[in-house]
Amino acid sequence: MGTTDPQIASGTGLQLAAVVGHWVDGAPSAPAAGSRHADVYNPATGERVRTVALADVATVDAAVRSAARAAPAWAATPPLRRARVMFKFKELLERHGDELAAIIVAEHGKVFSDAQGEVTRGMEVVEFACGIPSLLKGEYTEQVGTGIDAWSVRQPLGVVAGITPFNFPAMVPMWMFPVALACGNAFVLKPSERDPSAALFIAKLLKDAGLPDGVFTVVNGDKEAVDALLAHPSIAAVSFVGSTPIAKYIHETASRHGKRVQALGGAKNHLVVMPDADMDQAVDALIGAAYGSAGERCMAVSVAVAVGEDTADRLVAHLAERVRKIKVADGMDKTAEMGPLVTKQHFEKVTGYVDTGVAEGATLVVDGRGLKVPGRENGFFLGGCLFDGVQPSMKIYQEEIFGPVLGVSRVKSFEEALAMVNGHEFGNGCCIFTRDGDAAREFANRVQIGMVGINVPIPVPMAFHSFGGWKNSLFGDHHMHGPEGVRFYTRYKAVTQRWPAGIRAGAEFVMPTMK
Ligand code: NAD
Repeated sequence: MGTTDPQIASGTGLQLAAVVGHWVDGAPSAPAAGSRHADVYNPATGERVRTVALADVATVDAAVRSAARAAPAWAATPPLRRARVMFKFKELLERHGDELAAIIVAEHGKVFSDAQGEVTRGMEVVEFACGIPSLLKGEYTEQVGTGIDAWSVRQPLGVVAGITPFNFPAMVPMWMFPVALACGNAFVLKPSERDPSAALFIAKLLKDAGLPDGVFTVVNGDKEAVDALLAHPSIAAVSFVGSTPIAKYIHETASRHGKRVQALGGAKNHLVVMPDADMDQAVDALIGAAYGSAGERCMAVSVAVAVGEDTADRLVAHLAERVRKIKVADGMDKTAEMGPLVTKQHFEKVTGYVDTGVAEGATLVVDGRGLKVPGRENGFFLGGCLFDGVQPSMKIYQEEIFGPVLGVSRVKSFEEALAMVNGHEFGNGCCIFTRDGDAAREFANRVQIGMVGINVPIPVPMAFHSFGGWKNSLFGDHHMHGPEGVRFYTRYKAVTQRWPAGIRAGAEFVMPTMK
């Protein structure tokens, strides 16, 4: 293993450390002697390019204590000054966005333009955070009683933690920390151990933007580090994004330790194609939403529900032709439309689902297994796969595959399509393609899903709205970023005052009321 990743170095001049450590007290922090490490791969070449330190309980404790020391002064910093750091951070993200995108490609594998899109979507939350002072304003009522006024404020929680997945190593942390920081909290990030370098790059940009030391901390690690965060007495709240079993565990464990929790989980997003849909539009939408980022998106569409046999036949014919043409290559290749899967283990899991689908009796119309990318023969590449005849009883329907595998299910009516979507355990995103306003309105109203698209395949809310699913896609009450994010990262306080203090109301033993 060399000291740098040549792919990153040649693309941007960036050099990443051979060993990824932590970021504590505003500086890189080397792993403790004898600490455990995990391998980090370049998914396009299959090579191990670096290792990441896995923090133990003592390392997490030291990191959280540093954040707790920094938190009070940051909370007391005027909101506009905090927002100015966010403005500066946004400027730096714009300037260094391509370097960050290259780091994402090198460890995640997605294509470069997609990684640039990820950085931009994250930056939009930073833009939202720049305006947070206006959302922290409370409400005031004069004279709620004679000589008595009342007002409300939203105050920061203290130190909050974010635990994030591999699939958006920059954007998902940016769903969390810009809002948390602008609200006056200190933030401790535990990124995915599969692509940890983006978080350290972001930490450096925040420092350069003028964020005081200790206000943003990165601890790399696995379950041991996560468990230490969940139990730490100085952590007031936990934001999590990842798979459903872990989201459930995080919600239960952190709640048991008295913390506020939002835990976003997995997904199985359906796209309903009505007989009157614009077929070209629906097919374009499905190709991007199912195969973009190799299907490793929580808002990826993995089930197309075709209403009517004729709709299904036309849909499958159009899709098959397009899926066969998807250009699969190294994410830094400018012609690439789809890159590799993140790790060999994940590649094997997704390929295993394709095998299962065949064994379960679904029709594999396009088989992406066995694909070899010239010059990248050891990369974790899987070509686009398309199933027809997927039934709700099948494992490939029930479980999240998280790869470039789209299943088509055939139903007879709108009602059957709606029942199918509502019957699934996940409730992250969904959409309907139709020209019928009545059907679209009915769908949006009755579907049991957190984010709904009408002729929009990936209905990810903009930064000033909030992101989150229903059912087993979210544990907790608050969605992420936007107004829900501000509510999650602040506590409401109501103050009632009487002036002049000299007025004597006398002792009252009954409930005070407006008489
Ligand atoms: P994951 O659940 O394996 O890991 C997420 C985080 O949890 C990582 O930081 C990891 O280190 C940690 N973790 C893993 N196992 C743990 C354990 N046993 N105990 C404590 N912590 C543990 O998820 P992933 O594979 O990195 O990401 C893919 C998943 O994330 C998919 O299910 C996808 O749908 C989901 N996701 C959801 C959303 C959303 O908004 N709902 C967004 C992005 C990704």
